[in-house]
Amino acid sequence: MFDLNKIVEPVLGLQGLEADLTEEERAIQEAAHGFARDVMRPLGATLDKMTAEEVVAPGSPLFEYLRQVHESGLLDLAAIAGMDNQQKARIMPIIFEELGWGDSGLAIAALASSFPAFAAHNTGDAEIIERFGSLPGCWLATQPDRGSDAADMDGSIVQPGTRQSRGNLYARVVGDEVIVQGQSSAWVSYAPLAQTALAYIPCDYGQGLEHENGRGLNHIGILIPLDLPGVSKGKPLEKLGQRPLPQGELFFNEVHVPKKYVIAEGDAAITSFLSALTFGNMEMAATFTGVARAAYEHALAYVHERKQGGTPIINHQSVQLRTFDLWQKVELSRAITQRVFAYNYSDKGPHLAASITSKTYVTETAFQVASEALQLFGGNGLTCEYPIEKLLRDARASMIEDGETNTLKLKAMHWLSRAYQRNH
Ligand SMILES: Cc1cc2nc3c(=O)[nH]c(=O)nc-3n(C[C@H](O)[C@H](O)[C@H](O)COP(=O)(O)OP(=O)(O)OC[C@H]3O[C@@H](n4cnc5c(N)ncnc54)[C@H](O)[C@@H]3O)c2cc1C
Repeated sequence: MFDLNKIVEPVLGLQGLEADLTEEERAIQEAAHGFARDVMRPLGATLDKMTAEEVVAPGSPLFEYLRQVHESGLLDLAAIAGMDNQQKARIMPIIFEELGWGDSGLAIAALASSFPAFAAHNTGDAEIIERFGSLPGCWLATQPDRGSDAADMDGSIVQPGTRQSRGNLYARVVGDEVIVQGQSSAWVSYAPLAQTALAYIPCDYGQGLEHENGRGLNHIGILIPLDLPGVSKGKPLEKLGQRPLPQGELFFNEVHVPKKYVIAEGDAAITSFLSALTFGNMEMAATFTGVARAAYEHALAYVHERKQGGTPIINHQSVQLRTFDLWQKVELSRAITQRVFAYNYSDKGPHLAASITSKTYVTETAFQVASEALQLFGGNGLTCEYPIEKLLRDARASMIEDGETNTLKLKAMHWLSRAYQRNH
């Protein structure tokens, strides 16, 4: 039993019902929060109003942000890699939530653009690290005809008796080279500015593209320098949300890549892709907990300012209930996020089913929270003068990014069903 001798207001942290942050965790949280508030929010709001072409043009505020985020050390992947698993599980969701609270598109821009460099460092190979280790890049998996099929790279949710699309971009191994032909989808984040691509694409190793399981394709994971002859880029994509995060197509016309740059072949390429998706989905959950929290905080402030019915609208009990509902959804989002980080960095993890559990819940919840927050703003919520409509658009994009919600849920259920069948 608790023994309360007086009733006081709850003591809340930046991240709500937080209990026991260490001094180090508190310092990191405050640094991330200050950066999100002072740098990301203003730059994100500016970039949101620019055209996709302007976002990637020389002198764009995007470059100022990237310079500052690297200087801040908040996303120093080498430092994160040096933490023990318990530190990673606790510190990463704190940082990503703050950055998502600042601006989700910018948070993802910094991370997505460093994926190839991170993969290069992971190889431990001096030549690859020298070539790719410090260049901004992108993560390329989807193609015009392979969207969800790319997310389902292991072919686990293909309908019996059917086959996945063969797509529009593939590689073939010829001697010491990998020849890449075709085009990516228009959705490759940071592609318009990338100098390298970490590509997971179908590959013909000499026996065709079809994987022997008949449900998917053979794949290769390869680092591609984008200054090679035959590479070109499409126009940056105009889209609904996360506008500070540029996307675009990459075209490959018989591009010869040294075989040395292959990071994973055959089934290992599929595992490598699913590992990246496992990290990405988990990170998205933390980022969009930050988006949900931002929407809740704006709504909380607004309902105390806006007067209707002769009083600030917070004094109407229905508004109190609706605002509480937002608070609770943010807390639940954070709880599932932290639980999945803890699981993935435990001896039992990581698993894509865990990451999907958090990513799909949190992104859908962030959209609901932003939508109801907008409703609490009334007509003002619809205008660009207030920050809510941007959060709604940012959250909307997150339900398709990094794997469309339903496709991901099907993949997770496939694994849960497999686990059930093994035990029964
Ligand atoms: C903001 C953003 C950033 C992105 N960044 C990247 C990136 O950096 N790199 C990259 O490679 N891609 C990126 N993507 C692409 C993203 O991964 C794809 O958009 C996503 O996987 C869905 O593919 P699609 O758009 O082709 O939709 P489709 O696959 O065409 O899906 C259309 C609909 O069909 C349904 N569907 C599809 N397959 C099945 C199935 N087997 N069973 C049941 N229903 C199904 C889906 O649920 C969906 O509702 C990004 C997308 C967005 C929005």
